[in-house]
Amino acid sequence: MGVAISAVVVSGSVAHAVDRVRFDQCSELQARFPTGVAKSAVAAQSAVSLGYERPAVRKKVFRKNRKTLGPPTAGSLCLSKIEVKEFAFQYNLDSSLPAGWVAEFETIINNLGAVLPISERIHSVPDVKMPFQIFAWNSAVPNPFPQIPGAGGASISGNDFLGKHMILEIPESEFTNNSLHRYSVIAHEYFHIYQIALSEDIMQPTWITEGGAKVVEELYTQQYYGQSEFDGGLFPVSATVLSNPAAFEKYERDGGLVGSPADINYNSSAFMVLALVDMLEARGISEARAFEMVLDDFVSELPDHANWRGAFQAVFSMNVQDFYTALGSGSYPSTGVTDDWFEGSAIDVGAVLPSKSLTLNAIFATP
Ligand SMILES: [Zn+2]
Repeated sequence: MGVAISAVVVSGSVAHAVDRVRFDQCSELQARFPTGVAKSAVAAQSAVSLGYERPAVRKKVFRKNRKTLGPPTAGSLCLSKIEVKEFAFQYNLDSSLPAGWVAEFETIINNLGAVLPISERIHSVPDVKMPFQIFAWNSAVPNPFPQIPGAGGASISGNDFLGKHMILEIPESEFTNNSLHRYSVIAHEYFHIYQIALSEDIMQPTWITEGGAKVVEELYTQQYYGQSEFDGGLFPVSATVLSNPAAFEKYERDGGLVGSPADINYNSSAFMVLALVDMLEARGISEARAFEMVLDDFVSELPDHANWRGAFQAVFSMNVQDFYTALGSGSYPSTGVTDDWFEGSAIDVGAVLPSKSLTLNAIFATP
């Protein structure tokens, strides 16, 4: 033993000089190698595929302990099973919210959890912690949560302490006006978590992430309340979306047009999603399946490509530029409607609106 130690010292590493290679029990080995040891990289990979945490590759440690601590599992010793984490929310709902809203909030989260379960890939997103926190309050009161200083509006945000979390500041006017948005916003933000999980947080391009969340939010109200903004033709969709669709790849704050006056309520981004679905349907794909390809397949495909354009090509068998060109040459006449709150030209998107009977279940329940 003494000889072995001095031999390691010669190699120049003081830390290695005190390394033990023999252990009497797995608990001792795991104090040094928490996920166990493998005899080779191939064995470590086998352990991972069997549902274990990746062990350290230590040929010598493996060899010296295989009799005492064995028999080995696929070439590894003292493995530890990956703990299956359940996705769970923790609600932080302020007393400023009406009881009716709180009850409906719980119903909506449960409905969405059944039809759109959050993928277990969420646990590989670095700044996601369990339980996933939701903070909600009525804008009639100042932000009551000291954990999220300065927070407002509705979003999935991150901070060092909580990781990603959902913020729902519901405008007081939505209660007094009985606006369905006080409920649809829950579906919108929930769908962003669904996207974050499937894409491992690659949220690109913005017209698909925001347009997709907008479409899901309207499909939710159509299904559960019998009405949606599709009924009013999704007005206004800016004509800019036809002349400059590439500008919708980014938020306004990042130099693009998503969320800008050319994308009021993300209507223009949602139109791009609906137009893409329409082009897929033109190939004979069913409506529900076409929505699934855009809202689900594309998002799942993102981690497997160097950039979103590659995922787009793979899922839709279409080049992004060809999609933009087709959009520009589509026939979307001007609505001719001029509202004092909307400047510019709005287009009629009636041709690409989803059927009234389409449900989230039909889209996402397909295995
Ligand atoms: Zn959003």
